[in-house]
Amino acid sequence: MSENEIRNTIIIGGGPAGHTAAIYAARANLKPLMFEGFSAGGMAPGGQLMTTTDVENYPGFPGGVTGPDLMQKFKEQSIEHGAEVVMEDVHKVDLSARPFKLWADRDEPYLAKTVILATGATAKYLGLDNEERLKNKGVSACAVCDGAFFRNQEVAVVGGGDTAMEEAAYLSGLCTKVTLIHRRDEFRASMAMQTRLLAKENVEVLYSHVVTDVLGDDGVTGVRVKDLKADEERDLPCTGFFIAIGHTPMTELFAGQLDIHDNGYLKVQPGTTTTSIPGVFASGDCQDWIYRQAVTAAGTGCMAALEAERWLAANE
Ligand code: NDP
Repeated sequence: MSENEIRNTIIIGGGPAGHTAAIYAARANLKPLMFEGFSAGGMAPGGQLMTTTDVENYPGFPGGVTGPDLMQKFKEQSIEHGAEVVMEDVHKVDLSARPFKLWADRDEPYLAKTVILATGATAKYLGLDNEERLKNKGVSACAVCDGAFFRNQEVAVVGGGDTAMEEAAYLSGLCTKVTLIHRRDEFRASMAMQTRLLAKENVEVLYSHVVTDVLGDDGVTGVRVKDLKADEERDLPCTGFFIAIGHTPMTELFAGQLDIHDNGYLKVQPGTTTTSIPGVFASGDCQDWIYRQAVTAAGTGCMAALEAERWLAANE
């Protein structure tokens, strides 16, 4: 590619959304360029799946597939169809004029007629040493992804927002007991979700408690909790520990340029991937705080590529 070639489509982000967009755009002969090395938030290329072990809920993989293997297959498929995949971070964009400009490792900006944003989101963690050590060994930030590994076992969830309610409710259908740990004596979650959760017989709530440690050598055996009112610590046995204290969408790069919700996620027109700037499309977790699944990210990546293709056809 010559330095100042104007690309039809540049994709930022190499997770399920970005690769699905790349496959569709490449098959539509748009010759997409993908920057997969977007690592704001410390994420490896490939997104959140790179830190996941077994993925059992991605269709087409009976018996499961590991997160990194799935990402490798996505990447092979993107390249096979002609996408150019570059392992670089995009650190600046200018979406104020056409062609759009994106800066990565070289001095000159890359130029694009359309841009597909697929920068993802990262789960927030408590920041405990043993939490980090036991990630994928009982510590998880996604009940839908990992809950099935704890069927008929006792688990704990930390958080007090809608995500925590949803995660705890989902787990209550699989596990014998779910203990929800929240640092205050009232939830932030909507009343409807609280009511639904609190009606479940196998859910117990520890209000005004914080988790001070995660226990276990090769797998989680419990969490140490502190009762903030009594100022007492005790150990709570569990084999799974789910963190549900929020996610951080990787959208800082677009602040001041695109419309962004108060919670940091990119705004798209309902039912589309169209952002506030025509020709810029947003897919995957950077615009979705509800579903957050690899398969839904892939679905919106497909939508973004189809919308980019149609936008180019209408505006060329
Ligand atoms: P929120 O930011 O709404 O809630 C985070 C929760 O985690 C809060 O209760 C907070 O406590 C707690 N928390 C944060 N940091 C810590 C910490 N270090 N230690 C202990 N607890 C902590 O995030 P959610 O992911 O729940 O929701 C994000 C957005 O997505 C919201 O707008 C939500 O409504 C939406 N959502 C909607 C759903 C739906 O409609 N089906 C499903 C899921 C999410 P505190 O309350 O004390 O601040």
